[in-house]
Amino acid sequence: MLHLLCVPSGSTVTDFFYQKALQQKFEETVLVASSEALVEKARMQGIRAVTFDALANAVAEQCSAQLHERLVVRKISRKAQELILQDILDRLQEEGRLPYFGRMSGKKGFVRSLVSLMEQIGSCGATAEEIETAFAHWDGRSPVYRQKDREIAVIYREYLLYLIQNNIYDMSGLYRVAAEELAALRKAGGAVTWKALYFTGFYRFDALQLVIIRLLSQICDLWVALPYEPGRPELYGAAEFTYGDLMRYATPERLPAVPVSARAASLRHIVRNLRSPEMQPVPADQGIEIWQLSDENEEMRAVLREIKQQLRGKTLKPSEIAVVVRRMEEYSGIRDLCDEYGIPVQAEDSAALAASPVFRFVSAILETVSLHGREKAESWIAFLTQPLQKIVLELSTETVIQLAGTNYYTDYRKFLADILEKTGCEGLRQLWQEIEAIPAETTIQDYCDITGRLLSLTEIPEKAGRLYREGQITLAGFKNMVCACREILSLLQKLPQDYRFCRSARQTTDCAGFAEALADAAGKMSLSLQPENREGIAFLSAVNLEDAVFKQVYVPGLRENEFPFYKDENWIYDDRERADLAVLGITLPSSADGYGEDIHFFMNACAAATERLVLTFYADEEHNASPYIAEILSLFSDLRVQVKTAGTAAADSLSREELELALARDGQTEALKKLEPGLAESAGSDRKRLQKAAGWNGNPDDATLLQRISRQIGDRFSASKLETYRSCPFQFLVTYVWQQKAAEAAGEDMDPMQRGSLLHRVLEKFIGRHLGEKLQQAQHAELQQELDEIFDAVCQEYADKGWLYPGDFWQHDKEQQRNLLQRWLRSEIAYSEQGEWRPVSTEQSFGKKGKGEFALDINGRRIYLNGKIDRIDRAGDAYFITDYKSGDTPNKKAFADTDLQLPLYLLAAAMQNGGNVAGGGYYSLKDAERKESFMFPAAADTVPWKTFSEAKDENGTATAVSDMEDLQATLQRVLGDILDHMGEGDFSPTPSKDCERNCPAAEICRFRVLTRNREEEDLNG
Ligand code: SF4
Repeated sequence: MLHLLCVPSGSTVTDFFYQKALQQKFEETVLVASSEALVEKARMQGIRAVTFDALANAVAEQCSAQLHERLVVRKISRKAQELILQDILDRLQEEGRLPYFGRMSGKKGFVRSLVSLMEQIGSCGATAEEIETAFAHWDGRSPVYRQKDREIAVIYREYLLYLIQNNIYDMSGLYRVAAEELAALRKAGGAVTWKALYFTGFYRFDALQLVIIRLLSQICDLWVALPYEPGRPELYGAAEFTYGDLMRYATPERLPAVPVSARAASLRHIVRNLRSPEMQPVPADQGIEIWQLSDENEEMRAVLREIKQQLRGKTLKPSEIAVVVRRMEEYSGIRDLCDEYGIPVQAEDSAALAASPVFRFVSAILETVSLHGREKAESWIAFLTQPLQKIVLELSTETVIQLAGTNYYTDYRKFLADILEKTGCEGLRQLWQEIEAIPAETTIQDYCDITGRLLSLTEIPEKAGRLYREGQITLAGFKNMVCACREILSLLQKLPQDYRFCRSARQTTDCAGFAEALADAAGKMSLSLQPENREGIAFLSAVNLEDAVFKQVYVPGLRENEFPFYKDENWIYDDRERADLAVLGITLPSSADGYGEDIHFFMNACAAATERLVLTFYADEEHNASPYIAEILSLFSDLRVQVKTAGTAAADSLSREELELALARDGQTEALKKLEPGLAESAGSDRKRLQKAAGWNGNPDDATLLQRISRQIGDRFSASKLETYRSCPFQFLVTYVWQQKAAEAAGEDMDPMQRGSLLHRVLEKFIGRHLGEKLQQAQHAELQQELDEIFDAVCQEYADKGWLYPGDFWQHDKEQQRNLLQRWLRSEIAYSEQGEWRPVSTEQSFGKKGKGEFALDINGRRIYLNGKIDRIDRAGDAYFITDYKSGDTPNKKAFADTDLQLPLYLLAAAMQNGGNVAGGGYYSLKDAERKESFMFPAAADTVPWKTFSEAKDENGTATAVSDMEDLQATLQRVLGDILDHMGEGDFSPTPSKDCERNCPAAEICRFRVLTRNREEEDLNG
């Protein structure tokens, strides 16, 4: 017999069921609960309790044992369902039976949607024939949709057939078997061992569950508690169908449902009147509050701040408080936030298995197997730079990064050999051998065995344990690694079982396919890092809240699209089609069911509070407050939304972060200093940088530090070292004192420096063969061939040395460089024919220690200069120096100011060659012309190209530089200025347009950030 108890919101019959169950024999009674939590609760009372799935299993086993041989129910995982359906789709596609779904059949997303549709069809209890009949009677379908229906019917039939033939069941299959066996048992006059069953915590049952309930009620005393009140259909939409079905044969019981406990008046009003047609607004009391916050972060902080205050004041115990959200996955950071406030919380700290370092380590191993060439080298680089390598191989990832950044590896063996040579890491040698032995293709079972063995070989748990004991990693980090190893090993055992029933189990797959399958399976798993703290506040999902009671409940996230949260029903059939199918007897869940479920969850959240309920939300441009907020407001005549603001005063801070923020905001540097050394400085660092305070912004003021900086700078300078200081002293500090370089990884394309060096080398070789010669147009073809040959030889030399990667990219770039050189040759011939200047040397170095030293005495200090002059030409007894530039050439206005190379080289050439240096200039390779050439006035017309003769004087006015002595005086003045400022510790950033593009100090000087702030301040007046 079936007894139906309709339980109004906020009431429970659980105790009544407990009492009844306890009055009967243990083995003759079963309490069937909707969740593991309710099962656990009943078991604690000494009552036999199970979930509906476990009941179906037990029914199938009990019935089959009496009717024929005992049925061994083998339930398959969702992954196995996907694999089986993929096999079916592949076969139907091969047979040309999927004209509608054909193109989608290989897509994972489609297979997942199909699994969910198969489950929905299965849960409504439809057989393959019933589906076909319904589709055949579906009027008004277009031919295209008829084809879709036909294909779904075929897939469903094939899927059921496969399960039956292999004696396996998905969830609805298990329910169907239970129902069929029960019907057969009933017909045979048999009985189950139970005499009474109590169903609690459910708000709906699907069609097959209803069949089982009906059949069981014919042989047992069966009690069902259903949340339902006939007068509030808007609230009980989710239970409506179940209520209607059960009422066809149930005896309605009128036992008074007991309210879960006494409630504040306003909370009683909510549970009794939400969505009630007879509702009359009443004045609110302190039991209900609605808060509006500015954003998500402030919303959670406001909730936790109040909880912290209550726990501090001991007005409530942690176990009397709950935070209820619609979807737990939206609140993954809640534990950290609770930790920040020191609030104990009953929520497991979990992490996604796929995101764990150990899983990424395993995936990286598998990735190295299937790739080739540069991609394989890259995958090894990525593998060896994983942070976990410090534990597994005790390998310096910095060394790996450095090596990979300076060489463009296309052969992973060369990369590994270099790493081994540099680090001598024996562990890597062994791991390399093991990875080399992984087959490129084998079965899933083999791959699982190999991966499991490799993971065991790494001894991650043992090594992590040692590091934890030594205090080098945290307990959470240690647990994460150990749990991840355990979960991955168990996954590797489970995975072949999922594949057992599909073609892939018998076929081989490649390693990339296996890696994908493993990642896919791991994507659905999470690691539990910390056991639940049963003394803490509860952090719960509104979905699992049946019978839960707390004195105080906070419900954050009450905004559109979050709570209510409506999931889209399976797209293969939309809501309109589902409505048609319902008429044809196939009742699939629709979006309307989702609305019904959501309001049920919201009511459960409200009903969980007995003394105080706080509903919170924030609204932004995307989403407004939840419609539930308006519904609650409408229940009361005077309830108002409380707008809460952020910004806690230091005295009211409840967490360290809040205190730090408040102190920094108030400029309380002394208090900040006490909190943590250095914190005060960090809080005001940007302000100090803007104010150019001493000790900040590249202005060291400590005498010892200044001495050490000066020692580090030394007395040897190149032109570029001086130019760097002249253009930005902070960049100079970072580059030459801290010795930081802009991080540039080796890439397939050549970096501009390397390209410039290659062109210089070609020109050095070419000009070196034609010293003293006049080049003529008549020789052009011959010279062109010669230049080409030199270019090819130098390219080969660079490739052999690993300085360039001769891939597709370079082949294209190479031809561009060849053209550029040919254009240069045409110009060179023209210049040669027009004038008397002939090259006399190339790549002449000066300032090397002990040889050709070039010293200048500046303000009582001797400095040494060094460099290399690309080319020197001579006409009569006069010399002209040339510097090739593959990029832009410095502007003539910068001569002897930020362009120090040309004047310094002129001076050095005069000193080395002992003759008359008439001038010098740049040769732009990209424009194939000489540019920005300086000539002393007396020699200005001796070259057939444009020249200038001025430099800025001390007042910044362009003034002619008459001779070498004059040039030296100008240079000494500029260098003196540089050295004085360096000595005073002036290393301030001096930003200019685009200065940060290649600057290694760009992230440190924060020029971009500070400039933006300043602009904002300006804009704000
Ligand atoms: S980014 Fe500009 S301002 Fe900052 S250090 Fe570099 S060159 Fe100087």
